[in-house]
Amino acid sequence: MPELAIVGAGPVGLYAAYYAGFRAMRTVVFESLPFVGGQIATFYPESLLYDVPGFAEVRGDELIRRLEAQARRFPIDFRLGTRVTRLEPAGDAVQVHFEPETKERSENASANPRGALSVAAVLLTTGIGRFVPQPIPSPEIESFRGRGLDYHLADPATLSGKRVLVAGGTQRGVELALALASVRADVVLIHRRDRLAIPSELQDRLRASPVRFLPFRELAALEGTLRVERAILEDPRDRAREAVAVDAALPCFGFSAHADDLSSFAVRLDGDAAVVDPTMATSAPRVWAAGDGASYPGKVRILAADFGEACTAVNNLAGAIVPGAPVFPGYSSHRQGAAQRPRPARVLRNP
Ligand SMILES: Cc1cc2nc3c(=O)[nH]c(=O)nc-3n(C[C@H](O)[C@H](O)[C@H](O)COP(=O)(O)OP(=O)(O)OC[C@H]3O[C@@H](n4cnc5c(N)ncnc54)[C@H](O)[C@@H]3O)c2cc1C
Repeated sequence: MPELAIVGAGPVGLYAAYYAGFRAMRTVVFESLPFVGGQIATFYPESLLYDVPGFAEVRGDELIRRLEAQARRFPIDFRLGTRVTRLEPAGDAVQVHFEPETKERSENASANPRGALSVAAVLLTTGIGRFVPQPIPSPEIESFRGRGLDYHLADPATLSGKRVLVAGGTQRGVELALALASVRADVVLIHRRDRLAIPSELQDRLRASPVRFLPFRELAALEGTLRVERAILEDPRDRAREAVAVDAALPCFGFSAHADDLSSFAVRLDGDAAVVDPTMATSAPRVWAAGDGASYPGKVRILAADFGEACTAVNNLAGAIVPGAPVFPGYSSHRQGAAQRPRPARVLRNP
């Protein structure tokens, strides 16, 4: 049985997973998206951050890559595309109920079955909630989900050499189009207007790239027998239509955050965040919280503060659930190996 379940693999969940490994806990991480990185990966992977300790500046995707690599030094069980729906106290344990989140993933039912897991403690790093893509309001188009229509492309390299339509003039849409072009996909980017509301630096990169930008186009239909073969594009000004041969269609109309699951976690809430005490414990037994999804007086929602909260939460829950483990882990620089389970504190006796 894993000792700890972390809910949410945003930057804070990733750092908490690493830290739980450092405290030698068996850890499972649930993430509703099919990729890690939370708000950073979803909204601003290519933006620079200037307030992360140790970096004068760092790109969002680079920070997530490093956090993930750090976490994966330990054998953490990542359950991506899996949403935690309910927490249930069960004596000395908590039952974590989960189910597949994305339609693309749920087609592979054996990878992410619905179920429940018993753990000794839960750490909520749910941020501002689950990110749900804005769907296209057309059942015909939606029927291609998992057959070329994908709202959650995790790795652009999987579409290397393919013909890809990116629909939507959002920053994520443009960044995705550029990332696909960099792995030699043949990319068409469409937007229903001619102006993209993106930073000028990104405009320049788009202009210099091989991405074919088609303004005044909407995705009207997808066609194909087994998978997507053609996208039907429509000009909103005169309804003129054209067909473009594609292997994949990636709508990027933005995401909305849903924090509705928190109400099923039996924790006291302050808006969309769990109220915590100075040890980051919530009102529910054996449930801690950190990051944007935790609330206390004076809370500042930035990463520098969030990472400290993850550290405080994991050390306190380790002290509570691992027999003999102290809250203070000792200095990492005093350890020979990072992953040793700390021994119970030695009792010093007078000679
Ligand atoms: C545009 C923008 C720019 C920003 N710039 C900066 C900056 O420069 N510096 C800075 O410090 N901060 C910045 N921030 C804020 C920073 O991104 C957040 O503070 C940080 O992402 C919080 O991390 P988190 O892990 O707590 O939550 P999130 O990043 O929100 O991640 C939470 C994860 O939990 C998952 N999840 C939620 N509910 C469930 C569930 N029931 N089951 C499974 N998974 C679930 C979500 O899918 C998500 O992946 C910025 C934010 C935005 C939007």
